[in-house]
Amino acid sequence: MSGSMRRNMPKGETPDARPRLVFSRAMMDLARLVLRSHAPQLGLRLTVALVLTVAGKLTGVMAPLLLGRAVNSLTRHAHAAVQLGWSFAALAIGWSVIRFLSAAAPQLRDIVFGKVAIAAQRRAGAEAFEHALRLSIDFHQTKRTGALSRTVDRGARAVDFLLRVLVFNLAPTALELIFAAGVLAKAYDWRFAATAVVTVFIYGVFTFAISDWRISHRRRLNEADSEASGRAVDALLNYETVKAFGAEGRASAGYERALEVYGAASNEANVSLALLNMVQGAIMSLGLAVMAILAGMEAASGRMGPGDVTASILILISLYQPLNILGFAYREIRQSMIDMEAMLDLTQQKLDIADAPDAVGLPPADAGRGGRLAFDHVSFRHGARVEGLSDISFEVQPGQTVAFVGPSGAGKTTLVRLALRLIDPQEGAVTLDGVDLRKVRLKDLRRAVSLVPQDVALFNDSLGANIAFARPEAGEDEIWAAAEAAELGPFIRALPEGLATKVGERGLKLSGGERQRVGLARALLADPRVLILDEATSALDSRTEAAIQQTLRRARAGRTMVVVAHRLSTVADADLILVIRSGRVVEQGRHDDLLARDGEYASLWRKQTREA
Ligand code: ADP
Ligand code: MG
Repeated sequence: MSGSMRRNMPKGETPDARPRLVFSRAMMDLARLVLRSHAPQLGLRLTVALVLTVAGKLTGVMAPLLLGRAVNSLTRHAHAAVQLGWSFAALAIGWSVIRFLSAAAPQLRDIVFGKVAIAAQRRAGAEAFEHALRLSIDFHQTKRTGALSRTVDRGARAVDFLLRVLVFNLAPTALELIFAAGVLAKAYDWRFAATAVVTVFIYGVFTFAISDWRISHRRRLNEADSEASGRAVDALLNYETVKAFGAEGRASAGYERALEVYGAASNEANVSLALLNMVQGAIMSLGLAVMAILAGMEAASGRMGPGDVTASILILISLYQPLNILGFAYREIRQSMIDMEAMLDLTQQKLDIADAPDAVGLPPADAGRGGRLAFDHVSFRHGARVEGLSDISFEVQPGQTVAFVGPSGAGKTTLVRLALRLIDPQEGAVTLDGVDLRKVRLKDLRRAVSLVPQDVALFNDSLGANIAFARPEAGEDEIWAAAEAAELGPFIRALPEGLATKVGERGLKLSGGERQRVGLARALLADPRVLILDEATSALDSRTEAAIQQTLRRARAGRTMVVVAHRLSTVADADLILVIRSGRVVEQGRHDDLLARDGEYASLWRKQTREA
């Protein structure tokens, strides 16, 4: 854990460098997010929010002056007592009304602007989520699910926070300081304004310095947090493996170690926060003391009324409040920048598999329907591996079946992924109906090719919804037809809740064979040009498998089938059988030809028939 952390924070990197680098980018992105947030009456809301913000700050500075005048009126002896009472009351009421306005303005602004902030947050979250889903399977095989969902979550929240606090709190605080300094200098003299400005300046310098120092604590806290939750989710998702190996203790010990790191980071962050708050308090108190003494001396020498002493101190105190926000906002904004940076990093990861700018649709299916699948000297290696698929060529016509057989790890699933364009080959090309898959619009490709994987994972939803996932607009009768074709009919009818039965997380309330049949029903419902079965009947008993073979033989009409199978009997009637070993086609042909060749296939066949 600490090792990976150190890798993320190279030595010599000031904590300043990254967030400041992001600042302009983040501001641009924020602006863009707001503009495309589709919030109702966007322009009007933005204008009203800005006006309310400025009005709130102006009235906030004016209010203490009115109160000061009211107090001064008490000490003027020229008036009759009744008159005095009235003028004081009028001023006091004016003060309280203005004070109320300055307090109400930010609340009104939040009401007006809330919808915009929420819409921008929603947009950011949805975009990051969609982008993450579009990233390559390589990314998804490497990621930690819990950590990823938190990155999106925190990043989207950061957008909302930056909008509310940076745009409508931090910027206006600077405005308030200018107003306050102007009013103090004009109403009293420059030393009052100087006291306010210098106090704020020193306060700001210390706040920024200490907060910068704290950034690394917060980042460490975040990383420890992600690590701990990532570990927990990982163990919870793999509970079956954890249980099977009696590793509950080991898994929870790993979780506890992660929590320990989190605890240490959290403590460090809290201590430095307390230090920051104390330093801020000390500076503000010092500023107030200077202001009070200054005003007191002026009043003693008769140049100021007692009301003016009150007013000058009140102005400084009312500056104090937003300054409290300034410190908090600065810290949180830096934090939000880090969160947003993480989310932006995610959305800026290049998509390996995306539509080409000149992507085309597939040619319309002809009479025999489409689905001519061809591999043309295709080679592929995973990452930096030396071994991989090399120089694979074959072609299947619509209505035909091609079968991949060979030992585990030979590269059969990799071939399937190439046919689905979940990965792109490094050399050669995969074509469907004559079009290079890299040129086909992904939407069209996904509709044309369906996969039933060996390990069908289901959504934590109903059986019906899982089958209909292939085609959400499918009617109930179509879902039933697909279920029947996949030999699921009797099973579903026996369930008290039928198609509405919940399947549990990842479908684990169903047996492996039932899951495979749901996967098959789903693929049949999609009605694709190319149907790919990757050891899709491996978990079925031989009677169910035979029944499904019947279905598949019927489903074969007019579409191309790609079948990966362990049991050679299930692919004996394929039009083309490729025997794959270590990423190469070692034999190919029809069943009879391969038997006649008396090579690898023939010996495998003899072995399996003898076992049977
Ligand atoms: P199979 O014929 O059993 O379906 P696969 O196509 O799944 O074999 O795998 C072929 C080889 O590629 C195996 O050695 C496997 O370890 C490797 N492999 C599969 N997926 C990845 C991946 N994402 N990264 C690196 N290597 C992989
Ligand atoms: Mg496989």
